[in-house]
Amino acid sequence: MTGEGFVFSEKPIAIESGSGVTLTSEDGTEYLDVGASYACTPLGHSPPAVVDAITEQAEQLLYVQGSYPVAARTALQEQLAEVAPGELSKVWLCNSGTEANEAALKFARSATGREKIVAAQRAFHGRTLGALSLTWKDDYRDPFGPLPGGVEFVPYGDEDALAAAVDDETAAVFLEPIQGEGGVHPAGDAYLQTARDVTEETGAALVLDEIQTGVGRTGTMWACQSAGIVPDVLTTAKGVASGLPLGVTLCADWIAADAGNHGSTFAGNPVVAAAASATLTGLQADDVPANAAAVGEYLREELRAAVDEHDLPVREVRGSGLMIGIEVKRGSMRVLRDLAIEQQVLALPAGRSVVRLLPPLTIDEGHADSVVDSLIEVLG
Ligand SMILES: *Cc1c(COP(=O)(O)O)cnc(C)c1O
Repeated sequence: MTGEGFVFSEKPIAIESGSGVTLTSEDGTEYLDVGASYACTPLGHSPPAVVDAITEQAEQLLYVQGSYPVAARTALQEQLAEVAPGELSKVWLCNSGTEANEAALKFARSATGREKIVAAQRAFHGRTLGALSLTWKDDYRDPFGPLPGGVEFVPYGDEDALAAAVDDETAAVFLEPIQGEGGVHPAGDAYLQTARDVTEETGAALVLDEIQTGVGRTGTMWACQSAGIVPDVLTTAKGVASGLPLGVTLCADWIAADAGNHGSTFAGNPVVAAAASATLTGLQADDVPANAAAVGEYLREELRAAVDEHDLPVREVRGSGLMIGIEVKRGSMRVLRDLAIEQQVLALPAGRSVVRLLPPLTIDEGHADSVVDSLIEVLG
C-alpha cells in the first residue's frame, strides 16, 4: 500500500504549513502548490474565512447525530441547493468523493428499478467497491474482484457508442465532464448533450461526476453549465470544503423521491458543513470561477507559446479553466520530481504522460508566469 506520497518517495517533502498558493516544508522551503493537493484548496491553503468558520463551529458543537437538524448543516444544504445547476435541489451529504458516487449509484438503481450502468473508458470514480466498478484502470480494480457487475464501458467522447450502449434497462450513465485522473480529457459539449438526450429518451439517470471539475474549477461553478445541460445527479467533493472531508450528491426530485434507504454517521458533520459554507460563500463573493476562467485561459496560452518558442517536448496543452493537462513526451513523474525539487513547484500526474495543474482558483497571472518559467527550465 502507498499513500499519495509515492511521487516524491526518493526525496519526501514534509509539509508543515500552508497559506494561499504556498506550502512550506519543515525545513522552511516554500513551494508553489499548483496541484492544490488534488484540487482540494480552491481558495488556497487555510483561507482565513474558512478557518474562522471552522473554529467558531467547533467551539459551538463538533458533532450531533444527523437526525437532529443543526444550523450549519441546514444552511449548507440550502446553499448547495441554490448553487446547484437546474433543479438539483435534493442534497445528500457524505464524507468523500467515492461515497458521493456510491450514493449516486444506489439512488439511480433504486429510482429506476434497473441494474445496468454505463461508464467511460479511462474513467475515475473512486475506490470503494461500487465506485471502483465504474473506474476503468486495471491496477485499481484487479486485486479486488469480483466487483459489482452490470457495468459497460464505452470509449469516452464517442457519441454513437454511448447511444448504442444506453437502453431501457440502463439505470445510469456516469461521466466526468472532463476526465481528470484519466489524463485531463474534456468530453466536449456535443458528447454531454448526447448523454443528456439518450438518458432522457430511455429513462436512465445521467450522473455527472464533478468531484474534480466542480466548485468553479473549469471556469463556471459546474462544468455542466458551460455545456448547457443539467444531469439528474451531480456529485462533488475535493475542494468543496477546502480540504475537509465532504462529499455531496445533488439529486433531481425524481431520484430523491425513490432513492431508497441510505445513511452515514458522520454525514453533514457541522464543522465540515461550516467549512463548506464558507468555501462556497468565498467562491461566490469574489466570482472566483470567473478568475479561474480568465487565468486558466492565460496560463494555457502562455504554455502553448512557451512550447512553440522553446521547442519543449510537449504534445498538447488542454483543459478548461484551471484544470489543465500538459501531455509531455517523456515520463510525467520525472517532470514532476524536477519541478518539485529544482523549481519548488508542486504539480500532479494524470497517468504516465500528463502533468496536471489544478491550482487554487485564486491564482493570478504572476503565479501563472512562474509556472510557465519553471516548466521551461525543467523541460527545456
Ligand atoms: C478524486 C475523485 C474521486 C474520488 O474521490 P475521493 O474523495 O478520493 O474518494 C471520484 N471522481 C473523481 C472525478 C475524482 O477526481
